[in-house]
Amino acid sequence: MDRIYIKKLEFFAKHGVFPEENVLGQKFVISAVLHTDVREAGKTDDLTKSIHYGEVSQMMKDYLESHTFCLLERAVETLAKKMLLEIPGLMEVELELEKPWAPIGLHLETVSVAIRRKWHTVYIALGSNMGDRERYLQTAVESIGKKEGCQVEKVSSFVRTAPYGGVEQEDFLNGCMQIRTLLTPRELLEFLQEIEKQAGRERKIHWGPRTLDLDIIFYDREVIEEEDLQIPHVEMQKRDFVLIPLREIAPFLRHPITGKTVGEMAEELVQRYVM
Ligand code: ATP
Ligand code: CA
Ligand code: CA
Repeated sequence: MDRIYIKKLEFFAKHGVFPEENVLGQKFVISAVLHTDVREAGKTDDLTKSIHYGEVSQMMKDYLESHTFCLLERAVETLAKKMLLEIPGLMEVELELEKPWAPIGLHLETVSVAIRRKWHTVYIALGSNMGDRERYLQTAVESIGKKEGCQVEKVSSFVRTAPYGGVEQEDFLNGCMQIRTLLTPRELLEFLQEIEKQAGRERKIHWGPRTLDLDIIFYDREVIEEEDLQIPHVEMQKRDFVLIPLREIAPFLRHPITGKTVGEMAEELVQRYVM
């Protein structure tokens, strides 16, 4: 990805944990790296095809001067989010906020906090086999789309499948969606579990009937192997009700560990049934 640099923009603001800092204010310095594709602007000489660094500089200064935070951490976190939400074409941002006059009673050149935040591409599998199944899946898609920092990019059709895991129950309705999110994997998991709860999901029998099940299948190309969170979802390659709808929206997406595409994994499953 191409980058636009804004280096050491100075401004005067009131961030700090000491009350005097919030009243008197002091000098701050911000630097930003904007990750965006400038190819079209390079070919056409048209500023509207790129990000206007003058406007971004003004935006950063205005935001940091008009808010007061105790911590530099909070200042850059909220600013990065605002920038990713409001600046079209900005895929990733690096921010470093310096406080050269930090009142710690020692001489230093500067102190700073630097962060890097970006849009992540995530695939979520949806399933329901109780009540108005289509309504549950549709409502889940809408709730995810309404969440700040989540944007729905693609939704597969919903397919009917026989239940999995040997528990006697109704047929399932399953689908997959592609979203863009600023949430971390864990934040996303918590949010999805909230939506499940709002849909009246109760966890009684494992693989038993449920109003709504939302599983994270892929999160960028990340591999997470923790007690309560595994990404890619560990069973995905064995499940036609995940692979068939996922193939509809992302046939060439590759599993980060096995290296197989969704299309290849779906084909392998079908072959196994045939044999
Ligand atoms: P399965 O995970 O085999 O599809 P399930 O969806 O029925 O089974 P749940 O009861 O919904 O299982 O979830 C059990 C736990 O799985 C959750 O509490 C969650 O912490 C954990 N989990 C681990 N990895 C993931 C993931 N990628 N997406 C969603 N939940 C996950
Ligand atoms: Ca599941
Ligand atoms: Ca689940």
